[in-house]
Amino acid sequence: MKKNKNPEKFGPAIITRQEHGISRTLMSPNALRVLYRLKDNGFVASLVGGCVRDLLLGREPKDFDVVTNATPGEVKRLFRSCRLVGRRFRLAHIHFKEEIIEVATFRSQASDEPEPEAIETNGMEKRQRHPHMLKDDDGMVLRDNIYGTPEEDALRRDFTVNALAYNISDFSIIDYGGGLADLSAGIIRTIGDPAVRFQEDPVRMLRAVRFAALLGFTMEEETGKALVHAADTIIKASPPRLYDEMLKILLSGEGAKCSDLLRQSGIFAALFPAFSAWLDAESEGFPHTRFGLMLTCVDARVQQGGTVSQPLLLALLFGEYLDEKAGTFRAKGMPWQQSVDAATAEFLGEVCPYVQIPNRVGFALRDIIAQQTRLKQIPGRKPQTFIARKDFNDIIEYCRIACGDMKDVDKRLEWWRAQAAEQDSLPQSELAKEIGAPQRKKKRRRRRKPQRDLQITE
Ligand code: ATP
Ligand code: MG
Repeated sequence: MKKNKNPEKFGPAIITRQEHGISRTLMSPNALRVLYRLKDNGFVASLVGGCVRDLLLGREPKDFDVVTNATPGEVKRLFRSCRLVGRRFRLAHIHFKEEIIEVATFRSQASDEPEPEAIETNGMEKRQRHPHMLKDDDGMVLRDNIYGTPEEDALRRDFTVNALAYNISDFSIIDYGGGLADLSAGIIRTIGDPAVRFQEDPVRMLRAVRFAALLGFTMEEETGKALVHAADTIIKASPPRLYDEMLKILLSGEGAKCSDLLRQSGIFAALFPAFSAWLDAESEGFPHTRFGLMLTCVDARVQQGGTVSQPLLLALLFGEYLDEKAGTFRAKGMPWQQSVDAATAEFLGEVCPYVQIPNRVGFALRDIIAQQTRLKQIPGRKPQTFIARKDFNDIIEYCRIACGDMKDVDKRLEWWRAQAAEQDSLPQSELAKEIGAPQRKKKRRRRRKPQRDLQITE
């Protein structure tokens, strides 16, 4: 194996097929089809990123990403089921029955590009050169859309362990950034100066935390220091992207470990200032322990292959906080239902400027909390209507997981489950009669009233 820490001087380390032992049987057949077709048409093509990392670690990759020197247009001409996506950078999505293979053209290393500048033409007029790569005043990359070499493509990636490529032409692994050594040592290290890389894209900090926790790796010293130093700047990333990345973290199966790292580094407090302060304080002399317990429950469920819907996840994690907020509103004389609405609205108002919870998820979160009272009434009023709700399982699961230690919960859940089981066994027509639904009557379409009661308060 050729090893080398300084790719600029000696070129990349190449690990031959015999040396790395990754079998193609572990790869997605569709990804292999894409790679072979690109190769057979004279293009360079490799698997890259997380899938190579995971294959080397003996983990099952989540997705298989392909890079090539073919332009998106050339890729489209080779695959009938190809759609080009992305405005910031054009990517080819090759659609197969059960998966989409993403094909990217080699990208250049953004930080090597000159800033946009005014250039002179004909010695007379000045015109603005089209800015390929644009950074804001703080060095955050806003746009970067030119093609590059395989090496540039590898070195613009986030971490050394994410920059390995599997070359289909000779089945070798190409390591431009020292990723193999870090992989065997269990280290998460940014490619290049971590302070610069986190400044360019603060979301990389969340990715560093996720990979460290998920792979059981330690953060390289300089990377860890830079992360703590830049923790406050996480809120510069766009709120929808931060929500997506937080979801990945919380549903990774290592949410508890990630949360510890996020809290120690200061990132958690930057993203959830009010909730974080509440979590660190006590209420009536009791610490707030439910958040940690719920993270562990969610992790266990994910690790067993189970799923958790987004509203249920948020209800489990923030339910105790919401209950306390609602209690404060009730103490001021607000009715129960309204107090839950107000508490949810206040919570969303605190969180959404940084981590943008989609409206539909916010409403569904409120409903899970608000419907808990309904579970308390047994026998319930019109139980079939309640059971027919789309979020019935989430409502039940919230009660079971978050409030399981409360009095009579088991008895109540048992009653509701029995009702649901009975309903499942009824023929649909009987069921419709029972819940009073009009049979085969055409529904008049009504415009939905905007739900004003949950508007975010700033
Ligand atoms: P997983 O899919 O298992 O979560 P991954 O490493 O494949 O992990 P993706 O989000 O699928 O993560 O990204 C694919 C690859 O793209 C990464 O391995 C990395 O090389 C690169 N990448 C992703 N996000 C960034 C980023 N913010 N900055 C630089 N490179 C990135
Ligand atoms: Mg991936």
